[in-house]
Amino acid sequence: MIKKFRVNLVGAGPGDPDLLTVKAQRLIGQIDVVVYDKLVSEPILALFPRSVEYIFAGKQASNHYLPQSEINDLLVNLFNQGRKVMRLKGGDPFVFGRGGEEALHLANQGIPFEVVPGITSSAGCAAYAGIPLTHRDFAQSVRFLTGQLKDGSVDLDWKSLVVNQQTLVFYMGSLGLQSICEQLVVHGMETDMPIAIVQQGTTSNQKVLVSTLSKMPEAALQSPLKPPTIIIVGRVVELSKSLTWFQG
Ligand code: SAH
Repeated sequence: MIKKFRVNLVGAGPGDPDLLTVKAQRLIGQIDVVVYDKLVSEPILALFPRSVEYIFAGKQASNHYLPQSEINDLLVNLFNQGRKVMRLKGGDPFVFGRGGEEALHLANQGIPFEVVPGITSSAGCAAYAGIPLTHRDFAQSVRFLTGQLKDGSVDLDWKSLVVNQQTLVFYMGSLGLQSICEQLVVHGMETDMPIAIVQQGTTSNQKVLVSTLSKMPEAALQSPLKPPTIIIVGRVVELSKSLTWFQG
């Protein structure tokens, strides 16, 4: 049976091409145009057949190359031209990826689509940094957060974040690092709470910086990290001492 093609909203995972889903890899061989984000790694882009047209949609914190509305319209136009289009995003399309906005736009236009989940960067970076996001002795819950404002400040319900046995993961947190460390302490978190920053997790450029809430702002100044980075806060971070396995 020939299925009518649908727009594919696909998660590329955090960087390592081996972390693509089998479904994403299968679709890579079936499409003829890919609209991709800055976060999609080079080795993943290299997997597409030569005939595929690449359209860069940009999207980096405070540096949007194509406004979201134009990306939405682009997907609709490509589909209406009969192109087999894949919208490829770093990590998972529905975790801080605006995949929801794009899917809604397609739905509103009556355009068929499917969503292919990807490994979100918190899961990928945590695994490759040897930091279990939960562990029965240290964390029974984990929260994925982003609160970065344009001026680098972070606007979150800090009180609700300072909870025992909970891991916090901040996406897009690099500009707000100092604010995150300060606010957590101001709202009662121990100054010696371990915190990790993972740079370009799961790639050959992965670096992991581990410190405490009180010392991290200075440590990060001493060894500046390149984007993208993700921040993990919680007692589970200490386990990385024993669980580091990935050498890049
Ligand atoms: N949809 C994506 C998140 C997009 S928001 C996902 O599910 O992962 C962009 C943020 O994701 C970046 O600012 C960074 O915090 C994080 N990120 C994505 N890939 C990363 C990587 N390889 N290493 C570290 N952080 C990453």
